[in-house]
Amino acid sequence: MTLNDKIKNLEPYEPNDSGYKVRLDANESYFNLPENIKDEICEKLRTMDFNRYPDPMAKKVTKAFADFYKVNPEIVTAGNGSDELISVILSAFLKKGEKVLTVSPDFSMYAFYSQIFEDICVSLPKENGLKIDVDKLINTANTENAALIIFSNPCNPTGQGISKQEVRKILKSVDALVVLDEAYMDFWEQEQSLLSEVEDYDNLIILRTASKAVGMASIRLGFAVANKKITKVLKAVKSPYNVNAFSQLAGEILYSHKDFLQNNQKSIVNAKENLYNELKSLGNFEIVDTVTNFLLIKTVKAKLIFEYLLSKSIAVRLMGDMLRITVGSEEENEALISALKAYFDKS
Ligand SMILES: *Cc1c(COP(=O)(O)O)cnc(C)c1O
Repeated sequence: MTLNDKIKNLEPYEPNDSGYKVRLDANESYFNLPENIKDEICEKLRTMDFNRYPDPMAKKVTKAFADFYKVNPEIVTAGNGSDELISVILSAFLKKGEKVLTVSPDFSMYAFYSQIFEDICVSLPKENGLKIDVDKLINTANTENAALIIFSNPCNPTGQGISKQEVRKILKSVDALVVLDEAYMDFWEQEQSLLSEVEDYDNLIILRTASKAVGMASIRLGFAVANKKITKVLKAVKSPYNVNAFSQLAGEILYSHKDFLQNNQKSIVNAKENLYNELKSLGNFEIVDTVTNFLLIKTVKAKLIFEYLLSKSIAVRLMGDMLRITVGSEEENEALISALKAYFDKS
């Protein structure tokens, strides 16, 4: 058998193996769960019916998510990470030969899935590689007749956000379905989210994830929020038991610990600001401030620094002439700063 062109050169997604001591490469939260929440999850796990399929609509965890973000639970669809939801959306809302509009740089999975589904992917470069030009995006969507626009706000990897007013302008100026990935919105200002007005639009899906600010990357849990008509489609096209019973149970418990989540989110933002100041005071490279839990360093030495850090068991993400660095715990950030100091003293 011959593999077709779109799959024959694919490699499995294997980010850095986890052998590194300091992991600042995947934008995860540096907070593990405290003992009391772990206990609560373990106790509840004893009551789980291991022999039964999970709730296909994931009602309890969806309700807990909806309570936390103050949205109507009827317009929320749970997924096996938002990655799964991106795949479901691109597979269902585009017909063969229709166009997806992405921006560049942005989260790599958008273009990846659209390639697998054989959609035509159009990519609009950002100004200085950092910011979406909203008018150009609208123009491109309309002249290319895009059926779907997908982007992250705030953006991974640039860490920049566009305002709520700008997102509204996009929504009102295009016919396309807009998939707004708010994976990092918890780290920015909540007023910039469109969650509270999602039902006002007939062409909006908002994605959220438990993997970043919520600190549960291990359980693979994401959510799509959209009006009832779109939600009905999402629930119909996803695979029936897409979120396993353990993730539903753990997610339900976690979203009910509202103060814990909000305090962690504040701590992460403070830690990011401290790390920004420390990196800046090193004075050896251009550093881009962000509204997320990671920072960007721009330098022609990116690759050399990346390799040096790996040799010190510190993993960050290399992207061309940039390093994307997730904020870590105090000790992890200290390890990073002292390794960088040692690097620049040497060179
Ligand atoms: C990390 C990330 C996600 C999260 O995906 P999950 O599958 O929920 O872990 C989604 N979108 C962006 C832009 C991300 O950076």
